Amino acid sequence: MEQERTEINDLGEFGLIDFLTRNIEIQNASTVLGVGDDAAVIDHFGKQTVISTDMLVEGIHFDLMYVPMKHLGYKSVVVNLSDIYAMGATPTQITMSIAFSNRFSVEALNEFYEGVYAACEKYGVDLIGGDTSNSQKGLVISVTAIGEVTPDQFIKRSTAQKGDLICVSGDLGAAYLGLTLLEREKRIYLDSPTVAPDLENQTYIIGRQLKPEARKDIIEFLQENDIKPTSMMDVSDGLSSEILHIAKQSNLGVVIYEEKIPIAQESKEIALKFGLDPTAAALSGGEDYELLFTMKQEDYDKIVLNEQISVIGYMADISEGAHILTKGGNKFKLVSQGWNAFQQ
Ligand code: ADP
Ligand code: MG
Repeated sequence: MEQERTEINDLGEFGLIDFLTRNIEIQNASTVLGVGDDAAVIDHFGKQTVISTDMLVEGIHFDLMYVPMKHLGYKSVVVNLSDIYAMGATPTQITMSIAFSNRFSVEALNEFYEGVYAACEKYGVDLIGGDTSNSQKGLVISVTAIGEVTPDQFIKRSTAQKGDLICVSGDLGAAYLGLTLLEREKRIYLDSPTVAPDLENQTYIIGRQLKPEARKDIIEFLQENDIKPTSMMDVSDGLSSEILHIAKQSNLGVVIYEEKIPIAQESKEIALKFGLDPTAAALSGGEDYELLFTMKQEDYDKIVLNEQISVIGYMADISEGAHILTKGGNKFKLVSQGWNAFQQ
C-alpha cells in the first residue's frame, strides 16, 4: 500500500508547528503559557525547578533502519524524563526541537509526534514549545525536560556516605543486548534482503532498546515509603561508569557483587547465544534507564520486599578503590567503559 506523503513545504514551518501541536491539552497547573508565543511561562508555586537537555543525532544515537519514528519520539522524551526522576524530582514540561532534511515527510514527523505525545500522556508532562529547522542530512532531536521538587529535596550524585547500600531498579544489560540483536539483523538484511529477520522470542530485549521507560514508579515508591536516597542517578551508560560517578563525586570507594546484579532471564539467554557475558552487558552496555541510588543501611527493611529494587553492594572508604567481586570469588577493578557516542 502506498503511504500518503505530504511535503513539509506544502505546510511551511508555521503550518507544520500548528499541525504538530494542534491537540495539546495542558495537564499541569504550573504550565501558565505553552506553545504559540516567544516563550513559555511556568510557575512552580514555591517548588524548585530542575532542567535537563539531551540531543539525539541520526546515525550517532539512532538508526532509522530499525527504529520506528513513533518509538523514536517516545524514547526522546523518556530519556529526558529519566534525568529529572534521577534528581528525585517530578517532570512537568518538555520542549522539543527538531531539524530534518527533505527526506522526511509531514506523515513521518506526525508519527514521531504520536510517540512524543504518548510519552507526555503516560508521564503527565506538557509539551510547551520547541524549535523547528532544516538540516542538510538526517534528523536531529533536542529535548529539554523541566521538573519540580520540594525546595532542597533534590538528590545529587555527590552525597553518598560510607557504608550506604547501593541499589538499582529493574534489570540491566537488556537494552544493549537488544541493540546488538537489531544491529546483527540489520547486517543480515543488508547482505540478503530476502531473509526474514529472526526476532521471535526477543520481544523483551528489543522492547528495552526501542521503548525504554523512566522509573517514575520507583520515585513514587521511595516517596511513599519515606526513603530518602543519599545519592542517585539514572543508568544511561552502563552500571560500571555510573557507579564510578557516584564514588568519585562522593569521594568514596565501592564494592559490588556480580551475583547481585539484576539481569533478566531473556538477557542471559541471548547473551549466551551471542557469546557475550551478561555481566559485561550490565556493566558496560547502556540505555537501560534504571535508577541507581544509595541509601542508609537502616532503610533496608523498607525495600527488601520490592522485587524491582536490588541491593548490589555498598559504598566503602576511598582507600578501598572500586571493585566487583565475581561469582568465582575474584576481585576486579571497576573501569568506566560507558557507551560513548564519540568512540564509534
Ligand atoms: P520564535 O520565532 O519566537 O522562536 P517559533 O516560530 O520558532 O518562535 O515557534 C513558535 C511557537 O511554536 C513557540 O511557542 C515554539 O516554542 C513552538 N514550537 C516551535 N517548534 C516546535 C516544535 N517542533 N514542537 C513544539 N513546539 C514548537
Ligand atoms: Mg524559534
